[in-house]
Amino acid sequence: MSEYQYPINDILFSLLCVAHIERLTPYLEDEVDSDLLDAILGEAGKLSEQVIAPINASGDKDGSRVEQGEVIEAKGFKEAFKAYSEGGWIGLSGDPKYGGQGLPSYIATAVNEGVQAANLSFSLCPLLSLGAIEAISLHASDELKNLYLPKMLAGEWAGTMNLTEPAAGSDLAAISCKATPDGDVFRIKGQKIFITWGDHQMSDNIIHLVLARLPNAPEGVKGISLFIVPKFILNEQGEPNERNDVQVVSVEHKMGIHASPTCVMSFGDKKGAVGYLVGQENEGIKAMFTMMNNARQGVGLQGLAISERAYQQALDYAKERKQGFNASRTERAAIIEHPDVLRMLMTMKSQIDAMRSLVYVAAVENDLSHLSTGDQQKQSIARTALYTPIVKGWITEQAQEITSLAIQVHGGMGFIEETGVAQHARDARILPIYEGTNGIQAIDLIGRKLHSDNGAEMMELLSEIEAELNSMVPPHTNENIAKVKVVLEQAKKSTQTCLLSMKSDSVLGTGLAYDYMMLMGYLIGAWLQVRAQGASSNHHDMSDDAKMSWDCSVDFYCDHILPRAFGYASAIQFGQTTVDRLNKNAFNR
Ligand SMILES: Cc1cc2nc3c(=O)[nH]c(=O)nc-3n(C[C@H](O)[C@H](O)[C@H](O)COP(=O)(O)OP(=O)(O)OC[C@H]3O[C@@H](n4cnc5c(N)ncnc54)[C@H](O)[C@@H]3O)c2cc1C
Repeated sequence: MSEYQYPINDILFSLLCVAHIERLTPYLEDEVDSDLLDAILGEAGKLSEQVIAPINASGDKDGSRVEQGEVIEAKGFKEAFKAYSEGGWIGLSGDPKYGGQGLPSYIATAVNEGVQAANLSFSLCPLLSLGAIEAISLHASDELKNLYLPKMLAGEWAGTMNLTEPAAGSDLAAISCKATPDGDVFRIKGQKIFITWGDHQMSDNIIHLVLARLPNAPEGVKGISLFIVPKFILNEQGEPNERNDVQVVSVEHKMGIHASPTCVMSFGDKKGAVGYLVGQENEGIKAMFTMMNNARQGVGLQGLAISERAYQQALDYAKERKQGFNASRTERAAIIEHPDVLRMLMTMKSQIDAMRSLVYVAAVENDLSHLSTGDQQKQSIARTALYTPIVKGWITEQAQEITSLAIQVHGGMGFIEETGVAQHARDARILPIYEGTNGIQAIDLIGRKLHSDNGAEMMELLSEIEAELNSMVPPHTNENIAKVKVVLEQAKKSTQTCLLSMKSDSVLGTGLAYDYMMLMGYLIGAWLQVRAQGASSNHHDMSDDAKMSWDCSVDFYCDHILPRAFGYASAIQFGQTTVDRLNKNAFNR
């Protein structure tokens, strides 16, 4: 099994030359220059490669288990979590008032790319903790923030997100968990399922963020409130003390991410678990939505990370494995010399390059939406809203293809568990499902985002892409620019078709949503690929080999991957009528 190598040069290139992090400079107190970035990411890379990656395969094999009502995590995870926390990685972009380092969150994204690629199961614990930290930071009272944030940002206490119930998955309006006022606190009762890292021994306390309904709350999403429910209730000194009435019932047996305990949680079997209201009553879903962009982009990042990990392993194998002969038939060839294997590797690599550009462009826009002011902030909020479902949906769909291709490159050995490459495909399979299925992401894009402003922000994005393509001069990218422009015209037409469909029937119109999300993913990927090609060719410090590698990646993307966009655009043009027919006839045979 090959070792994971944190792709620091590709990440730095994406941040500095494609995502243009300097856009943030006017809004930052302290500038983040490329030397500081290099130093932080260098350390992050070492942690991922040397501490977190080595327990990935063993964690997959051992999984986690419940013993006497407590989850025991896989071997080595507790030590790795300690190293991660003590390195200050959780608080990287946290509020300095509570012990965070206040760096822009694109840096945390770049750090997390390594952690997620090294070990997806492990990475979920800090990721869920960050989600809980964000919810508390944005919505809790100062008293709750003072009590919980410093320990959480220091990694001494972990966090979880408890939304899902047996009858409430995609549709959170169906949540039935109850919260009853009891003096200054609330008593929480009910069951939550699929709770990632719902219990473990890696931290001194676990802070559950739980959605529940107050008595007489309105029906549906407008009657859901958000609560902090700690595993151990704090004493007067703010230290974990009495065990709260919250229990892990079982951990799920899953297809992948075996070392991440996915827990059935029971709240309030006895007197009711003690909970503290976060934000206003009945505004829990609103609170969740304010952190949705980060969480969903975080899952898109997982798609990129695991794809990179699978690609590295496939590339190493393709260089080593000898089979057949070279083109002149004089000697046995490593399989990387066969054009069909090259096709697979380039399909992986060129999409990973596009995915990475999108991840960091969206991360910088997300930072701008928080840090900037006035018109810039308004525009970045709208742009982040558009990017988020594409980052989550399109990238995690690509991860299915890429991790599967990594198995294919290995031939029969790919199907054998000891090779280790199958783990990436099994682990990646959850990505299109959790944090809002990709079907729900696509509906979010075509519905809440496109329909709600009559396509204004999307048309603005498409005009910006057009203006940038028109301004690009280097001669060698001309052919690629022309190809992207053809797809851009298709995207404009498809946007209008989707808008018309949504206007005539907003439920039936969602039948085009997936095709639209994929079309936009391939187009944005292509736009950023040609931007990367231009930036690499003009890069003074980049080696000729690296420039050539970028040319190969972008040319391959424009020739072999971008044409997929025509399929989705055609499906949108032709598909309007079939959605209606499907409803009635497809399953009546
Ligand atoms: C390993 C794992 C970890 C998880 N971690 C957490 C966690 O930490 N916290 C937490 O709260 N939850 C967690 N979840 C739950 C996860 O977010 C849900 O499984 C997911 O949101 C989908 O809900 P569901 O499983 O009920 O599927 P359903 O909602 O039943 O969906 C089934 C299918 O129907 C489609 N569908 C449903 N409604 C619609 C609609 N209106 N329009 C179009 N299509 C629709 C979906 O896209 C999907 O394809 C986790 C799940 C897993 C498997």
